[in-house]
Amino acid sequence: MPLSEFNIIEQYFSHITSSREDVILGIGDDCALLAPPPEMQLAVSMDTLVAGRHFLPDADPAAVGHKSLAVNLSDLAAMGADPAWVTLAITLPEPDENWLSGFARGFSKLAQSHAIQLVGGDTTRGPLSVTLQVHGFVEPDKALRRQGAQPGDGIYLTGSLGDAALALKLQSGNFLLAGDTAQLFIRLDRPEPRVAQGLLLAGLASAAIDLSDGLLADLGHICKASGTAARIRCDRLPLSARVSEYVAASGDWQLPVTGGDDYELCFTVPPALEQTVEEKFRAAGFDLSRIGRIEPGNRIIVLQQDGRELGFQSSGFDHFNDEK
Ligand code: ADP
Ligand code: MG
Repeated sequence: MPLSEFNIIEQYFSHITSSREDVILGIGDDCALLAPPPEMQLAVSMDTLVAGRHFLPDADPAAVGHKSLAVNLSDLAAMGADPAWVTLAITLPEPDENWLSGFARGFSKLAQSHAIQLVGGDTTRGPLSVTLQVHGFVEPDKALRRQGAQPGDGIYLTGSLGDAALALKLQSGNFLLAGDTAQLFIRLDRPEPRVAQGLLLAGLASAAIDLSDGLLADLGHICKASGTAARIRCDRLPLSARVSEYVAASGDWQLPVTGGDDYELCFTVPPALEQTVEEKFRAAGFDLSRIGRIEPGNRIIVLQQDGRELGFQSSGFDHFNDEK
């Protein structure tokens, strides 16, 4: 017997996250009732993943569940916000129980690890797509915006760049890489949102963004919003062993510098706070790299080891320049 909309909600969505005290009423009524802490600001963000565009139609549904929440949590992380609630609008071609239970499993596991509660949503029939809205709390004046970087500020990255882009290149089929590539696909399919790092940076970083469209494009957003330029050095970019090997063999810096789907944080720190931030990251055991500095001007300069400037034809870079 095909599942009704009510049964789908009851079976796959109603009980997949833990209850929070600030949820007065969760799934099941016409609206959820939520009690934000009176002294906090609410950070709200939404992202859609469409089958065939953001994930392959035959992708592991657990990975789709994970990634749809991860990319949204990454936006909260980039604002320095603490995740609280999420709503989910899901469109399904047919009620496929195998797909639904996989999706719910991937979603639930990541939601539990960030104590975010699914409080409502919408379930409809149509081409497969998943839209989430996340809500988090941030102290007034502590949110990390794209605007606020100043000449002299250090430019930092969490984690490493290019693993997801390399996995995507492998997935496209016209490229081969010897050795184990599992870790690259984990980075592409199950990114870990840097929520704890964002919370640590709230009130300290002068600007921040999460890397979804590639370092060049996303650092470009910080520069554009802040009215500054940036100078970064290739030899300081944090790369995994696999991406390092790839770049050494191919000379292709385009991949780590412009490849998307990293879901790391890129942020700037005033010189007087750099030591504090670096010590806090070290104490927490979080990876951190300073890749360059903010400068006056309106472009991004990427320097090779020999000091010469690397040229890019990436849309991110052009987009940044065109709009100035
Ligand atoms: P209404 O018709 O009043 O909008 P629905 O029948 O769409 O209500 O939804 C019933 C309840 O289930 C609501 O609380 C709604 O928020 C929740 N809900 C529907 N779909 C989802 C979903 N995919 N995930 C989480 N909650 C959902
Ligand atoms: Mg209603």
